[in-house]
Amino acid sequence: MSMSLDDSIVYSNGRFSRYDEARIGLLTHALHYGTGCFEGVRGYWNASEHELWLLHLREHYERIAKSAHILMMKIPHTTDELIEITTELCARNKFEQDIYIRPFVYKSGEEIGVRLAGVADNFAIVPVPYHAYYGNAAGLKACVSPWRRIDDTVAPARAKVTGAYINSALAKTEAQLGGFDEAILLSNDGHVAEGSADNIFLVRDGVLYTPDASQNILEGITRKSVLALAKNDFGIPIVERAIDRSELYCADEVFVTGTAAGLMPVISIDYREVGDGKTGPVTRTLTDAYNRAVSGAESKYRAWLTPTYATALSRKP
Ligand code: PMP
Repeated sequence: MSMSLDDSIVYSNGRFSRYDEARIGLLTHALHYGTGCFEGVRGYWNASEHELWLLHLREHYERIAKSAHILMMKIPHTTDELIEITTELCARNKFEQDIYIRPFVYKSGEEIGVRLAGVADNFAIVPVPYHAYYGNAAGLKACVSPWRRIDDTVAPARAKVTGAYINSALAKTEAQLGGFDEAILLSNDGHVAEGSADNIFLVRDGVLYTPDASQNILEGITRKSVLALAKNDFGIPIVERAIDRSELYCADEVFVTGTAAGLMPVISIDYREVGDGKTGPVTRTLTDAYNRAVSGAESKYRAWLTPTYATALSRKP
């Protein structure tokens, strides 16, 4: 069923309401100071099962709790409650399509003054229909951005903090205006960190490389899933370490990972073809495995998925 955004149901301030009834005020603290954190969760519609599968819901709520802790905010629900609320919210919207869910917690106090303590918080969840993050791109043309990835000494890189996304927005916009699809950001010390909204992987001589968690990356949930698939299903050797810019140019394959994008091959970087400029075999293997897992086709990865309608039904007396 499709509906307008205003008619859709959201969760805010401890209750379900229509989107257009849940407006925020102009002086909202988070709007001025970026004092919020958020998640992006995918819901995969399976028509034959008439089920909407929510991917890694628990992991997303565990990550937002950590982000909130870093920002000295508290989410007013346990992870189990959040899973209940989210499935209820999706069921109330009667979604029968792929969706994207945006949970967020932010400083909702309407007051001037940049600080974290002593300002009211609000927690909200807004689900929307999903649209392919990179359009129909078969592979991305990327550039190394002149903007450096935010350093953990400046703002917490491993927290998904709203204000920090100005870093991604600047890098992505400059890349797109220059004719590229995506920006790759280096950390302040010049090592490869990640894309503007995704983690990055390189394949070289059959080994999978990705920047380790100390490289100012967001510790991606898709990244973790891909590492698990590579290790458990294919025995691909994995190295997590600092990566130089020129290693990008020498890689046989490069791909990026993120909730919105899934796995997406990078076919050129800074005007240089990656490998032969086509999706490589390791990228193809891992993409197929990931797509099967998120569609519910692999029983051993069903634990990644939470059913919306089965959960909502089990709640009914
Ligand atoms: N890095 C950044 C900056 C991101 O915004 C995202 C998307 N959340 C990612 C990496 C990938 O994280 P995940 O796989 O958890 O979506």
